[in-house]
Amino acid sequence: MRSADFLVIGAGIAGLSLAARLAQHGVVIVLEAEDAPGYHASGRSVAFAHFGLGEKVVRTLTALSLADLSADPVDDRARYARPHRALHIARTDQVAALDALDEVHKGFGCDCERITGEEARALIPALKAGPDFVAEALLDHGALKLDTDAMLQGNLRDLRARGGELVCGAMVQSISRRGKGWGLQTTVGNFAAPVLVNASGAWADEIAQMARVTPIGIEPRRRTVIAFASPEGTKTTDWPFVKTVGEGFYFLPEGTTQLLASPQDEGESEPCDAAPEEIDIATIAHRIEEATDLKIERIAHSWAGLRSFAPDELPVVGFAPDAPGFFWCAGQGGYGFQTSPALAHIGEILALGREWPSDLKERGITPALFAPGRFSRAT
Ligand SMILES: Cc1cc2nc3c(=O)[nH]c(=O)nc-3n(C[C@H](O)[C@H](O)[C@H](O)COP(=O)(O)OP(=O)(O)OC[C@H]3O[C@@H](n4cnc5c(N)ncnc54)[C@H](O)[C@@H]3O)c2cc1C
Repeated sequence: MRSADFLVIGAGIAGLSLAARLAQHGVVIVLEAEDAPGYHASGRSVAFAHFGLGEKVVRTLTALSLADLSADPVDDRARYARPHRALHIARTDQVAALDALDEVHKGFGCDCERITGEEARALIPALKAGPDFVAEALLDHGALKLDTDAMLQGNLRDLRARGGELVCGAMVQSISRRGKGWGLQTTVGNFAAPVLVNASGAWADEIAQMARVTPIGIEPRRRTVIAFASPEGTKTTDWPFVKTVGEGFYFLPEGTTQLLASPQDEGESEPCDAAPEEIDIATIAHRIEEATDLKIERIAHSWAGLRSFAPDELPVVGFAPDAPGFFWCAGQGGYGFQTSPALAHIGEILALGREWPSDLKERGITPALFAPGRFSRAT
């Protein structure tokens, strides 16, 4: 039996970023079922940070995280992100939604500008002309392309430097009460700690049930991405991340010769090693060819990953009301990377029972927003 102060289940960005912080306060062991960190959702992200998704709380978490993600180059965290513009495009019938998004950006003090459909086409000549395709757009100069591998590795490095440990190939198979704490049986041996952090992504409810803790209702939703060749002779590296306001698609450059695209699908799924469905691949190819002059002759590769949502689509961070020492860190949805610095900070404060910081309070961010008990109280 190996003992720690904190056992963290899951070496995705949620588990590793919180574990790195907790390792400043005690012995931390992260248990990961797969052979390497980031195999599931965290290894399948398109690695972008912007204000075009989520509601106010998620956007505030994003704003709080941006400074950390794009820190000064003297710190090697600068490698976590680089500036990459985001272009939110709207058809005529979506202009009201674009107005609302414009207000959101202004509210967060973003460096952004409203442009016409023709100006959007000057940036991305492949966009089809006319208000049925792009009537207006919002160009955000402050968005970031993230290096998600660097983020995972950076958090792992911090964890290890502070005496913490990652154990891969350690599938948690059973969880039981052990004195005032928790005992875990895994495929590589037994572990115990007073605090158990559930950062198991799509499996978060399964882990709760294993520990006889009330599940949240975490819903894994599949998201599909395809990669295809950039148009011959066109330099696409400077293209912004392009996203429709509301339903539709997004696409962005990947390296010097490819584009990535997603239909922004949200197919229901069991927790699993997600794979793309033919219908979602066909949908994104169709939407891109309908709205642009891009020809998708061959899909170089495709993948899918599970984005996990609580019923109110806000993260779940905090101790379970019905199980002392069982700490939730789940439901990061489609924004787990761009909110991870702020969420790891919040997780650290709540796990240690520290006083809630006034700067979070002032921005309307309270523990109640993330409390695991918020769902049971509502019913
Ligand atoms: C296609 C796609 C695009 C995305 N794009 C973006 C983006 O642009 N920006 C952004 O911020 N976010 C994006 N996201 C969302 C982001 O990837 C997720 O929010 C984030 O990765 C969730 O991290 P996690 O650590 O909670 O989950 P995961 O990375 O899934 O980690 C959970 C871990 O728990 C482990 N585990 C589960 N059960 C057990 C067990 N019994 N024992 C031991 N270990 C266990 C799993 O093996 C897994 O490694 C995207 C997601 C997808 C799928």
